[in-house]
Amino acid sequence: MHEMPIVLNVVRSMDVYAQKNHIPDIKVVVVDIGEASSVVPFFFRSCWDPAVGQSYHLQNAALEINEIPCKAKCRKCGAEFRPGRSDAGCPECGYKGWNLISGRDISIKEILVE
Ligand SMILES: [Zn+2]
Repeated sequence: MHEMPIVLNVVRSMDVYAQKNHIPDIKVVVVDIGEASSVVPFFFRSCWDPAVGQSYHLQNAALEINEIPCKAKCRKCGAEFRPGRSDAGCPECGYKGWNLISGRDISIKEILVE
């Protein structure tokens, strides 16, 4: 389980943000977790309470997770599709070159303050 450092990183950056913007208390943090980001939402969630317990401005912050599915875009015809096996080609034209255009990242989507 490697989620703890990632969760701590999110919580610390939100703490800094709250400090800079004079926000006493952050109520909700919404995090987008990409399917291909290697972070498991269940473990992310289980790290949340211990992580916010060490914070200044997120002691009562609830966590909401959006799971972002993988999406690929064909480099030949531009079709967007959900990638299957890594050796599978584009479902439209069969071309084997494509880029992952979403589902790779973790990002803080929004926060709710008092
Ligand atoms: Zn294609």
